[in-house]
Amino acid sequence: MPGYYHSMRQVTGPVIIQILKNYFHMAKLQIFTLKFGINRCYIIKDEGAIMIDGGPPGKGKVFQSKLEDFPVQYRDIQLIVLTHGDFDHVGSAKEIKEITGAQIAIHESDKINLEEGRFNWPPGVTSWGKISHFLFSPFLSMMTIPSMKADITLHEEDYSLEQYGVKGKIIYTPGHTAGSVSVLLDSGEAFIGCLAHNGFPFTFHPRLPIYAENIGEIKKSWQLIINQGAKMIYPGHGSPFPVEMIKRYL
Ligand SMILES: [Zn+2]
Ligand SMILES: [Zn+2]
Repeated sequence: MPGYYHSMRQVTGPVIIQILKNYFHMAKLQIFTLKFGINRCYIIKDEGAIMIDGGPPGKGKVFQSKLEDFPVQYRDIQLIVLTHGDFDHVGSAKEIKEITGAQIAIHESDKINLEEGRFNWPPGVTSWGKISHFLFSPFLSMMTIPSMKADITLHEEDYSLEQYGVKGKIIYTPGHTAGSVSVLLDSGEAFIGCLAHNGFPFTFHPRLPIYAENIGEIKKSWQLIINQGAKMIYPGHGSPFPVEMIKRYL
């Protein structure tokens, strides 16, 4: 049956190539965690590399020493996505940009915190959130946040990461702050900043954040992330967790 054989070859050829491409893509994607005290930043290395968040102020040297453990060169990092404009997520962005030469992306609603070095920390929305905010903000708010211009201003629409060699996009996920964004990879990993907390001193298990400007928006943002195929969640505080663990709070 030459006709049958021919059409099978037409179908199976591209399918096999796609399977191989997927396999090699999965084998290539690497995620590295940078712990800065209670903060976690991430480096996503695919064809290219990007970084998620800049950590608290004064972490440039720590960044340099931690990067020695990873197969990533400074110049590989082309973009730093700031998930939001709180002091502990933008504080070292300037230093890390000077080291790597990476571009800095932040949403328009949180940009002013970065560009004017403003201290930002959303209010507590749980008992511990309120108490800890009251106790620690007098000390933390004295911190100096280096100011810098953003290279890329994000808006409501998705921002593709393809030009940086990463298969994924930045999506707008407000709630913790008005300008919060998340990075969602095509393979299901989601880097969500403070859309959840999963670690001391905030919480001992994955849950919605204990600080937020608008908890209703947070739930809507989670629906968006889930509907778009998130599987594994990488928070700005604490260990990664499967998306199922947050669903009971929505
Ligand atoms: Zn925050
Ligand atoms: Zn934080």
